Amino acid sequence: MTKSVIQALNQQINSELYSAYFYLGMAAYFDSINLHGCAHWMKLQSQEELEHVSKIYQYIYSRRWQVELFELKAPPFQWQSPLKAFEEAFKHEQTVTTQYNALVDLATTNKDYPTILLLEWFIEEQIEEESSLDDIIQKIMMINENQGLMLRIDSELAARSIT
Ligand code: MG
Repeated sequence: MTKSVIQALNQQINSELYSAYFYLGMAAYFDSINLHGCAHWMKLQSQEELEHVSKIYQYIYSRRWQVELFELKAPPFQWQSPLKAFEEAFKHEQTVTTQYNALVDLATTNKDYPTILLLEWFIEEQIEEESSLDDIIQKIMMINENQGLMLRIDSELAARSIT
């Protein structure tokens, strides 16, 4: 594995850790406005991001390189509405997708086929992330700020379990 690939993967560990932090911040926001189902969904999302961290960590280690950790920035914690929060989560995942696309380009340039295999898993995962957030956004847009219906979406999101 080349130095540039290993550096980019270490950077991606930081990005996935930030995602976990970001969704935990969003969970705190939802708990603060009593949408505990949304908060639950975000907590599981945060956990899932930590699994992504482990996956890259394990990969770097198994190829006999050392994982390097960088400073994490503080995530936002306040949004104007549940819709705005989910929209920002969607935008965040689009940014992460762009990062994985760039990583594939880098691994391809370096003919790093094992890394390309790892990245394929993440590219597929990103399709899922964007699609599930978009699904929630569409539903929240449909109810047009009706509080009662928002509570129904909230209890729907409360049912999310670890896959
Ligand atoms: Mg992730």
